[in-house]
Amino acid sequence: MNIRLVFLGTSAAVPTLNRGLPATILQSSTEQWIFDCGENIQRQMITTKSSFHKKTKIFLTHLHGDHVLGLPGLLQTMTLMDRREPIQVYGPLGLKNFLVNCQQTLKFELTYQVEVNEIVKSGVIVEEEKYIVEIVESNHTIESYSYVFEEKPRPGKFFPEKALALGLPEGELWSKLQKGEKVTLSNDKIVKPDDVMGPRKQGRKIVYTGDTKPFEAFTSFAKYADVIIHDCTYDDSLTEKADITGHSTPTQAAEQAKKADAKMLVLTHISARYPDANLLLERAKKIFENTILAEDLLVLELPFNDNEC
Ligand SMILES: [Zn+2]
Ligand SMILES: [Zn+2]
Repeated sequence: MNIRLVFLGTSAAVPTLNRGLPATILQSSTEQWIFDCGENIQRQMITTKSSFHKKTKIFLTHLHGDHVLGLPGLLQTMTLMDRREPIQVYGPLGLKNFLVNCQQTLKFELTYQVEVNEIVKSGVIVEEEKYIVEIVESNHTIESYSYVFEEKPRPGKFFPEKALALGLPEGELWSKLQKGEKVTLSNDKIVKPDDVMGPRKQGRKIVYTGDTKPFEAFTSFAKYADVIIHDCTYDDSLTEKADITGHSTPTQAAEQAKKADAKMLVLTHISARYPDANLLLERAKKIFENTILAEDLLVLELPFNDNEC
């Protein structure tokens, strides 16, 4: 599937002229996954031609206002647009209470079902046919999680001539093998997918840290990620402030990406004190060359990973 990453909001704590509050959306042609839900997310979704009706899952890293205050508005907008498809929302304990209180106070009904999933521990929280979503507890000032979206491996190339040589006629048996299933021939001989297909290809792996300072478990969690979207709130001269407030500097974000052997690093959650955040970018690039700075409305197309596995 083709997937793209769209940065809807890239500021920290308060919006600025050029940056909205944290929200990032990952999209395929049939489904989308929203990571954090800062205010004004709906207008950014309209600007980037994102759908309000598509199959959607929303993942919240923690319950600080800059990351969640867009959620009630987004849910309400979806109702006004007559959404019918259920939506799943994941986040720390307290999420359910937050949404129920908003709904009761603002007296809004929904035209679709919101399934709230409160997270209690690290691990895989979503497993679908083509991908998983896994979380790990991060290191912020309140309960907070980093997320990884990881595609399952794609099947390798199918070789029809090998299938024919093994006595397999074109048809249902071919598609079973292509889906990774074994098949049994009329002479009881078993044919495995590996007999007629090339090596499987690795899926893409996208990591979203949310607000955090560096933490030990991150390296294995983010290992070989195609993209790491990392907190980069303060510059290196404010390392102590970053430590106290549970955030990262460009040096720390870049070191994390390097240790994880990631392909690409995107710095986000930029403090409003940097109208020009290039100093953050330059600093990170000294340690991890393939770094970019997130900007609102930046779109990244994520090419297929051709590594074999
Ligand atoms: Zn924040
Ligand atoms: Zn926070």
